[in-house]
Amino acid sequence: MQTREQSFKRSDTQLGAPVFVARGLTKIYGSGDSRVIALDHINLDINQGEFIVLLGPSGSGKSTLLNILGGLDAPTSGTAAWRDHELTGASDKELTLYRREHVGFVFQFYNLIPSLTVEENVRLVAQIAISPMRPVDALDLVGLVSRASHFPSQLSGGEQQRVAVARAIVKRPDILLCDEPTGALDVDTGRLVLAAIAKVNSEIGTTTAVITHNSAIAGMANRVIRLSGGRIVAEVANQDRIRAQDVTW
Ligand code: ADP
Repeated sequence: MQTREQSFKRSDTQLGAPVFVARGLTKIYGSGDSRVIALDHINLDINQGEFIVLLGPSGSGKSTLLNILGGLDAPTSGTAAWRDHELTGASDKELTLYRREHVGFVFQFYNLIPSLTVEENVRLVAQIAISPMRPVDALDLVGLVSRASHFPSQLSGGEQQRVAVARAIVKRPDILLCDEPTGALDVDTGRLVLAAIAKVNSEIGTTTAVITHNSAIAGMANRVIRLSGGRIVAEVANQDRIRAQDVTW
C-alpha cells in the first residue's frame, strides 16, 4: 500500500541555499532512569525561503528541534548553525541576540498583552527590532488592519493568533517558527491563520517551519519532515502544494 509519504515525490529543486544546517544533532534530557533522548542524531538542511512542516506524534522531538533552531534550547551534541551563527555552544547572550534579530515565534497560545491594543502589541516588538516593518504593514499582511485599535479580548481566537503572526514577523525575521499554530483553533479560523503564515512565506520570503500533528497541513509545505522517537523517519517534497483555504481536518 502506498503511504502518504510515498505519494509525494522527492524533489531535487531547492528554493535557495541551505540557511540552517544540523549534523548529528542530539538532545538528551535528564540522566540515569529519567534520561530521555529527545533528538537522536538529526541531519537536516533547511533552504532559504522554504516552507517546512514538521510532523510526528507527541513526544517525537518536534518542539525540541524547533527550540534548538530558534535558539531557545541547546543541543547535547552535534552541530546546528543558522548561516554563520553557530548555535551549538553559543552563550545565552549570543542566543538571545540571535532570537531577537533573526527569529519570529508563533506558539499554540497567542500570549498577547491584554491591556495593549492589537497595534501596540505588534509595535512592542517593532521597537526593539533592527529593521522592522511598520506595525500597520504587518497587520495588513494578516488582514487585520481594521482591528488595530481593538484589544485582544475583542478578537476571536483565530484573529488573536493572526495578531501573534503579525507580532512575530514585524521585525522581518529570517525564520518564522510556528509550534502548533492552529492547535487551539477550529478549521475555519485555523485556515485563516495558515493563510497568513503562507502569505508571509511567499510574499516576504521568510523561511518557515511549522510543527503540527495535523497531517492535513503537510500539503501546504515545500517539504514535510516526519519525526518519530527523535529521528527523521521520512522527508518528502510536495510537487503540488495545496492552498491554506483547501486544508481540511
Ligand atoms: P514533540 O514536540 O514531538 O511532542 P518534544 O520535543 O516536546 O516532542 O519532546 C521529545 C521528548 O523529550 C519527549 O519524550 C519529552 O517528554 C522529552 N522532553 C522534552 N522537554 C523536556 C524537558 N525539558 N525535560 C525532560 N524531558 C523533556
